[in-house]
Formats: sequence, C-alpha cells, structure tokens
Amino acid sequence: PESLSMGYGYRPEWSEGSIKSPIFQTSTFVFQTAEEGKHFFEIATGQVEAEEGERPGMIYSRLNNPDLEILEDRLCLWEDAEMGLVFASGMAAIATTLLTYLRPGDILLHSEPLYGGTTHLVNETLPEFGIISVPFRAGMSREEVESKIAEHEPHGRLAMVLIETPANPTLDLIDIRMCAEIAESRRTDERHPLLAVDNTFLGPLWQHPLQHGADLVLYSATKYIGGHSDLVAGAVIGSEADIRPIAATRTYMGTMADAWTGWLLMRSLETLHMRMTRQGDTAAKVARFLEEHPTVRSLRYLDLLDAKDPQYDIYRRQCLSPGAMISFEVDGGEPAAFRFLNALTLVKLAVSLGGTESLAEHPASMTHSGVPADEKERTGVTAGLVRLSIGVEHPDDLIADLGQALRAV
Ligand code: PLP
Repeated sequence: PESLSMGYGYRPEWSEGSIKSPIFQTSTFVFQTAEEGKHFFEIATGQVEAEEGERPGMIYSRLNNPDLEILEDRLCLWEDAEMGLVFASGMAAIATTLLTYLRPGDILLHSEPLYGGTTHLVNETLPEFGIISVPFRAGMSREEVESKIAEHEPHGRLAMVLIETPANPTLDLIDIRMCAEIAESRRTDERHPLLAVDNTFLGPLWQHPLQHGADLVLYSATKYIGGHSDLVAGAVIGSEADIRPIAATRTYMGTMADAWTGWLLMRSLETLHMRMTRQGDTAAKVARFLEEHPTVRSLRYLDLLDAKDPQYDIYRRQCLSPGAMISFEVDGGEPAAFRFLNALTLVKLAVSLGGTESLAEHPASMTHSGVPADEKERTGVTAGLVRLSIGVEHPDDLIADLGQALRAV
C-alpha cells in the first residue's frame, strides 16, 4: 500500500496530466444524456446491476465524488478489503454503521471503555431507539461475556458486536477472534450479527482486524489516517456485501465527507507509513524514559505488558506494534495531573491523537468527561490518568519536555 498510495485509482490523463487528482469541488455532475442519468440512478439505487468492471457514474456529491472514491479504493489497500466508505467524522462512521444494522429490540454487545463520544452514542442515544446496549470489560472470559448476553437474550437478539481495541484511553485489549466467534455463534439463516472493530489506535498499519475475523473496521480518520490535526473524518471498511447497506444509509443520512477532506486524506495516506513508523519508534523511547521515572505510575504502553498478563497473549496475536499511544497516572489525582499538563511546552495540551505533533490530555475531564463516574472508576479512567499521543518531533526534545513537566508534579 505504501507504494500504491501515490497513484492507485487515478490516471493523470483524466485531468490534463495533473499528477495529483484535482479537488472535485462540485455538488453535482452533468449527465451527457438523460438516458445516461437514468442509468446512473438505476445503478446507484440498486435497481440494475452494474456490468462487470463498470464503475457507478457520478451523480451528486452526497452519493459519490471522485476524491472520495479514489480515497476509498486506497484505504482498502491498507486493509486488503473489498470496499470502504469515508465519512464526515469518526462518529459519523460509527453512527451510520450502527444505525444500518441495529433495529428496536436488538442487542448491541460492546466493549468498555470506549471513546467518550461512542460511549454516549451506545449508552444514551441508541437505547432511546429501543436498542439494548450490553457492555463487557476487557479481560472477561468468553463464558463471562456469554453470560452477559444471556441475561438480555430473553428481551432481544444479538445484532452486532462493537469493540474498540486498544481502548481509548486505557489501551485495554479485546480479543478480536473471541468476539468474532461470539458473533458467529448467533448466526442464523436470517441474521448474521456483525463484528465491528474501532481500529483508530493501531490502524491501518499495526492491526488488521479483518484478518482476525472482524466484519467491519471503523476509523476516526481524524487521527493517524489524516495525521496532521487539520481535518475531521471517519471511515468504515469491509466486504462489499457488508458495506453496501452502510453506503445506502450514508446517502440518505448525508454523513459523507466532502471532496476537500477526501483530497487531504489522499495527501495524508502518502506519508502514513513513514509518519506512523517514526511515531512508533519515538513512542518506544518515550515509554522507556517514563518507565524509569519515579513520578509515573501504572504506565500503559503495549510493549510493557507482562508476559504473564492475559492481555499479553492478545497483544502478541493481533497487534503488529505497540503503537504510539501512552497513558500513565501521577499520584495526587486531578491537581497533580493538571500541574503536569499545564507545565508542558512542546507537547500540546489538546484532545485528539495520531497527528504529527505530540498531544497530551486528561481523559477523565476531557475526552471521557461525559462518561458516568462509576463507569470511569470501573474502567480505570482515574483522576490522575493522562494520555499522550506521540508525534514526529525529535525524541530527545519530547523527553526533555515531559521530564520538566513531571518535575512540576
Ligand atoms: N473512535 C476513537 C477511538 C476515537 O478516539 C475517536 C475520537 O477521539 C472517535 C472514534 C471519534 O472520531 P471523530 O472525532 O473523528 O468523530
């Protein structure tokens, strides 16, 4: 994919020899004839099957746009998948996917913790539509998860499993294979519960959920895929059969990304491998520094998992790298965490992650601010926890900045 990311799906002769795809900043596309317009609509609405190799014609930028289509083809290369869709945000990708497959009375099994926005969606919004949201914690055995579903099965049927692994912000790992087997065990002739994995923290370089049995891979493309903290976008990737229904929901809910964002994401994919590799290498150096530091407690960085920890086995099986996210606690709760965050100079105090600049935040009062206190407690989102996203700066400069900020604690 790192070779094909520069040109796949686009030919310069389509656009006056322009080496890059232009930004197709247009709402609508002109049909050459009325018959052509009719045919494009028939294909887009599924009334007529496209001929072998025929690409759907351009109609209107809520349905399709060249910048999005080329980008979607390139995203599929990273996951070795058939079809991808790009959205206006990670939340738009998650919400559109869940609303495609969940109906009143359905059970959504999900891991916890999840990103704060996703937590709100599954805990607050979906239950208002009659969807039964059933959480399970990292580290639970298959039997424990099964018994959680069984408690709710008299009232509904498992329709979907949603997991975030590694979880934001604790880096807890969830066994993708185990979840795929749970989804598969509820399969009937009429229903196929799908497993959707939010791969934002390690993808698309360091974890490939489809290879471990997932059906759908979700992204906040705002993070590593975008990589420059200058856009908000999301994506879902999977088989054509599973993605097509989501494409229809996207069309009617209007949750797609715009052409300019699509173009920026294509630019970003060209350096994805380089950026993430550098971020991962630097994170390893930073983690080694933090590991030795007397002020740092409960350091979470995947390569520091103990070989006896059951999470270690999941890490070895499904992750290709520890990534570039680090969380740790400082003694003294929120005041101590705030002293650390306020003292940082090079590392910026901001939510989000995966960009070229390093960021630090306080999950309990920021990204996970809306998560109920008991859930924060249960999932380890403590008052002293800080989360770091490592960028591409020089590791020595980051270590110097983190060191002086830790002295302020
Ligand atoms: N999933 C994860 C793991 C996230 O961290 C985030 C945002 O921080 C999202 C989804 C939501 O993405 P977006 O902010 O692009 O809507």
